[in-house]
Amino acid sequence: MKKWDVIIVLAVLAVAGSLYFSGLLRADTPGGVAVVYVDGVEITRLSLLKDTEYRVETEHGYNVVKVEDGKAEIIDADCRDKICTKHKAISLKNESIICLPHKVVVEIEGGNENTVDAVVQ
Ligand SMILES: [Zn+2]
Repeated sequence: MKKWDVIIVLAVLAVAGSLYFSGLLRADTPGGVAVVYVDGVEITRLSLLKDTEYRVETEHGYNVVKVEDGKAEIIDADCRDKICTKHKAISLKNESIICLPHKVVVEIEGGNENTVDAVVQ
């Protein structure tokens, strides 16, 4: 490829990537953040460096997200399957916990790379 071809391809990739992963690129926090989405809308960002609990209220019910020791998990919810509460705590970039009944997603941004490309659930 010619030099300009490479530049154009990279530019296109950069634009497409930033559109798709704007949320991921925005996050550059050491240690990562747990981003909480409800129905695809970002509700809050919880630093993994700070132990905290956050209650997510949705029209379908609630989920309680807990951050402890640099990991995030859903410790309580009133969804019908409770799959989200059984999910292990997440801490690696792009790991996520999904509560399908509530359309709640907790996703890790920034922080350490996920070396194992495992998608649980
Ligand atoms: Zn759930």
